[in-house]
Amino acid sequence: MSSINQSRRRLFSRKKNDAVRPPWVKQTIEFTDECTRCDKCISACETQIIIKGDGGFPEVDFKIDECTFCQECANVCPEDIFESTDTAPWQVKANIQDNCMAYQGIWCQSCKDACDPRAISFSLAIGKAPLPKIDIEACTGCGACVAPCPSTAILVRNV
Ligand code: SF4
Ligand code: SF4
Ligand code: SF4
Repeated sequence: MSSINQSRRRLFSRKKNDAVRPPWVKQTIEFTDECTRCDKCISACETQIIIKGDGGFPEVDFKIDECTFCQECANVCPEDIFESTDTAPWQVKANIQDNCMAYQGIWCQSCKDACDPRAISFSLAIGKAPLPKIDIEACTGCGACVAPCPSTAILVRNV
């Protein structure tokens, strides 16, 4: 294979891997090889966060809402794509980008208020707006902090 083809392939693989698939999707499969794009998980999702993404394959969009881990997507899928829901749902975590308003000196704690597992804390600093910090261990990747952020500064993605 030529190096150009190899780098195109790597680019394509990375693009595919960037999409957040529904929780409990097996890490060991090539999702786009197994998913038939039947849309059953899209219809079943109680918060409607599963959308038709690239190529018509389902992916999660936290800008819409959070994942409640209701398990409906895993239960409804007719293919051998999902793990047992007794296991951890995914390796997806929140990450705060530089455009967070607190980094511009503006007092904002919308993400903290949205986070039920209390994975976001703010460090107090005299004369400065408190800055957010995410406890990666406590973060479930639910995405509840994404939509309330006024500057769209939180990405929840595969780590
Ligand atoms: S677990 Fe429930 S809320 Fe989360 S993506 Fe699946 S169907 Fe949607
Ligand atoms: S229910 Fe399963 S096969 Fe159907 S679109 Fe969702 S992940 Fe793919
Ligand atoms: S993704 Fe969920 S658990 Fe993680 S920081 Fe955001 S609201 Fe908290």
